[in-house]
Amino acid sequence: MSLPEGDTIHRAARKIQAALGGREIALADAPSPRSPIHSRSGELAGSTLELAEARGKHLLLHFSDDQVIHSHLGMNGRWFVRADGRLPYGKPWLLLASGGAVASQNGGKILRLVSASRARNDPALLQLGPDPLRPGFNPEAATERLLAYEPSAAVGEALNDQSLIAGVGNVIRIEACFLPRINPWRKVGDLTEPEARAIVDATVWVMETSMKRGSRPKQIYGRSRQPCPRCGGRILTHGQGDDNRVTFWCESCQH
Ligand SMILES: [Zn+2]
Repeated sequence: MSLPEGDTIHRAARKIQAALGGREIALADAPSPRSPIHSRSGELAGSTLELAEARGKHLLLHFSDDQVIHSHLGMNGRWFVRADGRLPYGKPWLLLASGGAVASQNGGKILRLVSASRARNDPALLQLGPDPLRPGFNPEAATERLLAYEPSAAVGEALNDQSLIAGVGNVIRIEACFLPRINPWRKVGDLTEPEARAIVDATVWVMETSMKRGSRPKQIYGRSRQPCPRCGGRILTHGQGDDNRVTFWCESCQH
């Protein structure tokens, strides 16, 4: 399974909203001793889930009585959502159930139970850039943000920055460079306006297509040394950025 990116989280939010939205939570538990809210999950029992929403790679569950679950899956977290009464195996970090509907999180980078005002003022959320999967996303404005980004940064590195466009992860950024034939090692300062717009449009396309199909469209991710599906050239790979994310690109058709 691929790592969680914004599309994964929007999909989880939609499933949770469909399964538990508007319902009173009958069971709230955090049986794993490693859960950051191990001792506090019971506070949610009896409250109603008003809205499940994704913001980039963050997921927020807004409950009545002003409580919010703030979650980020990081590299290894998972949401499990069922409407058929089946419970997840093991001891999840969070388990919410109502009738036959169950949502649970296991693992992750962030799992907090906070007040609505604390969630609203969370620095990690305030600094997020626009999210292509949220209403009101404006591709022109996102293009301007990309063109105004640190000129010496590589394009592939800039796309990793959640303050530029929220929800873009490793697969999305690689495919969003491949589609418009942009080399991810190009400097942002070297992009023309139409090139920047093409990267933004490709990012939106990959994320929206993933939501429609239920899986991310992938052409070159993970295909090191294989022939490019577009031109037959060789797919190269190398770590990129401070956190050395593995990057793939075609040596022949991405410039
Ligand atoms: Zn190629």
